Amino acid sequence: MRTIYLDNNATTRVADEVLEEMIPCLRDIYGNPSSMHHKGAEAGEPLKLARQRVASLLGAQPDEILFTSCGTESDSTAINAAMVAYPDKKHIVTTMVEHPAVKTYCESLEKHGYRVTLVPVDRKGRLDLNALYASISDDTAIVSIMWANNETGTLFPVEEIAKKVKSLGAAVFHTDAVQAVGKVDINLADSAIDMLSLSGHKLHAPKGVGALYIRKGTKFSPFLMGGHQENGRRAGTENHSSIVALGRACSLAAEMMEEENTRVKALRDRLEKRLLETIPNCFVNGDLDNRLPNTCSISFEYVEGEAILLMMNEFGICASSGSACTSGSLEPSHVLRAMGIPFTAAHGTIRFSLSTDNTDEDIDTVIENLPGIIHTLRQMSPFWAEAMAAKA
Ligand code: PLP
Repeated sequence: MRTIYLDNNATTRVADEVLEEMIPCLRDIYGNPSSMHHKGAEAGEPLKLARQRVASLLGAQPDEILFTSCGTESDSTAINAAMVAYPDKKHIVTTMVEHPAVKTYCESLEKHGYRVTLVPVDRKGRLDLNALYASISDDTAIVSIMWANNETGTLFPVEEIAKKVKSLGAAVFHTDAVQAVGKVDINLADSAIDMLSLSGHKLHAPKGVGALYIRKGTKFSPFLMGGHQENGRRAGTENHSSIVALGRACSLAAEMMEEENTRVKALRDRLEKRLLETIPNCFVNGDLDNRLPNTCSISFEYVEGEAILLMMNEFGICASSGSACTSGSLEPSHVLRAMGIPFTAAHGTIRFSLSTDNTDEDIDTVIENLPGIIHTLRQMSPFWAEAMAAKA
């Protein structure tokens, strides 16, 4: 059976070009970049190139890039650095729809004397900017706002927000750009963004590597302490081959982004249009005018997302649902709840996320099979029967 992989916001396949540069680093260029001998020096060169490539994709300087183990570590490092740099400031601002990498960490800080503001969103997932700006004071250590939402693809105006919150007294502005890097044109050269997180496995590099952009002049303290790697900003021997891979993934994204965004968006739009035309009682979630080109979050009323996933899997189709397993029961995700998506629809939400690997044929397979799947599931759904009876 052919795999139709439409779960690229969860993770992506390592690109062939990326793998090609990575393998020699595992097989031949195996020295520790911190070593004084020629094998160490040999390993240092590709590391330097990787830093340049990541910086170049972001419009940053190479010495503003810190390599980490993942997006989560980058997020934690940024938040921790702000707390250490500004010990007297006890207020943190983030959003209700943030990835747990930011939201859970921030919420945990309430136990350590921090006041945490979670800015709400509207039905389309747009941030309440008035509430955000009203929350800022001289006591605000960090404002952390994601660039693109992983579930709906909704984009927040982070460049504008960064400027404004800093003018209102926030010490540091950080953005979790894990879903944006490689899909959104980013130029940090003239922005007020102090720190930005990214993750390799979301842009066709391997899992277990990430980076944190730290604007020159931003007060910084390491999260991992020990050796002097990364200019003393992160201890631990570098994940050399994966960092090299991340660098190549960034240069690949820079080469292909414009063209691929147009192609992928056309595939996504065709998928959405056809599903909306052929399946009753469904709707697309998020800010449709400001969205990643690859993401489609679609709610099918009165059916279970997990049942849809299982049935799609029979046809080789991989996607995600909008539910999360919380204490043994399936709850609609915090993002859909924050947007006020009704319970009966939130439960039947599926996220399709595309990448450069997807083709017209992939979309055809979903369009051919999903209407039948939803129909079958609705015939078994007591909620659907109830809703139809109420309508009659
Ligand atoms: N932030 C966002 C928006 C994400 O989508 C993810 C992963 O899904 C993360 C952070 C965490 O990244 P990682 O898996 O590299 O820790």
